[in-house]
Amino acid sequence: MDEKRLLAKALELGFANAALVNTEDLVFIPSFRPLCEENLCGKYGVNYSCPPACGSVDEMRLRVQSWRRALVLQTMWDIEDPLDGAQVKPAKAQHNRLTRELINLAGEPGLMVGASGCSLCTPCAITEGQPCRFPELRYSCMSAYCIFVKDLAQRCGMEYDCGPGVTAFFSMYCFGPRG
Ligand code: SF4
Repeated sequence: MDEKRLLAKALELGFANAALVNTEDLVFIPSFRPLCEENLCGKYGVNYSCPPACGSVDEMRLRVQSWRRALVLQTMWDIEDPLDGAQVKPAKAQHNRLTRELINLAGEPGLMVGASGCSLCTPCAITEGQPCRFPELRYSCMSAYCIFVKDLAQRCGMEYDCGPGVTAFFSMYCFGPRG
């Protein structure tokens, strides 16, 4: 699917906004990694897609930058408190489902970066000492990659802080193998 159609298809599927960037222009902030260790999402150490199992910040950056282009996807939700897990969890799950649906429609190999860590299995097989059940579908979140999402949103002309009562989530589809 060409880039113009990809953008149009994203909006058609229900994303609030979509934009394309070069992965070389993404900003990675290694000092974000300790935020994962605070484990506000509850996935630290208990999910293959999250630190420390997902890999170092440098390994994550190289994983993204092995693709040339990134489609940045935003959804917006009537959620007052971005820390309210009861509202945030299903919204992020829906955002991730839409992202996967779009990638399937695109029909080209690529890397999904989710709005949250992988939630394809409950619990993640890592907690049972088993290998990942769906390594091809597993996705890590923007935070696990230490991507500076606020900067990215600005670059894409998207609101990061959407004002009272509205919370935005972001994901990416990286595509176009390098070299
Ligand atoms: S696919 Fe399942 S086992 Fe693999 S990272 Fe996701 S939740 Fe864990």
